[in-house]
Amino acid sequence: MSSLGVKAAPLNYRTIETIAVAIRQKLEITGEFPANTLEHILQGFFGDTCPLGIKDNINQEGLTLLDGSGIYLKSNVYEDLTVHNEARARFTAMHELAHRILHCNQFANIAHCRGKIETFCDPEWQADALAGAILCPAHEIKSKVGMSVDDVMTKYRVSRPCAEKRLKVIKEKF
Ligand SMILES: [Zn+2]
Repeated sequence: MSSLGVKAAPLNYRTIETIAVAIRQKLEITGEFPANTLEHILQGFFGDTCPLGIKDNINQEGLTLLDGSGIYLKSNVYEDLTVHNEARARFTAMHELAHRILHCNQFANIAHCRGKIETFCDPEWQADALAGAILCPAHEIKSKVGMSVDDVMTKYRVSRPCAEKRLKVIKEKF
């Protein structure tokens, strides 16, 4: 989802990390997150209320319905995710999961706004930050001193930009 043009309740990196840790703990995941099983993850969290579907007539890679009734991926993204477990598709899937977790339950509180949205209130920034935190957990990366960008890419199956961004955030914020 992109450019919602809406403002969400503010979230900082620490709160986002706490949410990511809770998600990983509930699923008992260490290391690579099974983003390719998004369908099962959604079932585990939301039962049958938020199915994963395919939709090609959307102008972004994924779409989360803000009433919580579903997540859609473009067919090529769905295939990259479920068949190839490909890094970019994994991030897209986690970005949409982040919207479902962060923004659907505050549907009524999300305000449309004109002008610039502060970063911490921007639903797109929040979804990207939570996606990164789910995929590359700060506490694991910090516990292994000296992990390089390539190490993070391999261990957590993420793209180079995602690994670079996460290492930078972890160094500055945690
Ligand atoms: Zn989005």
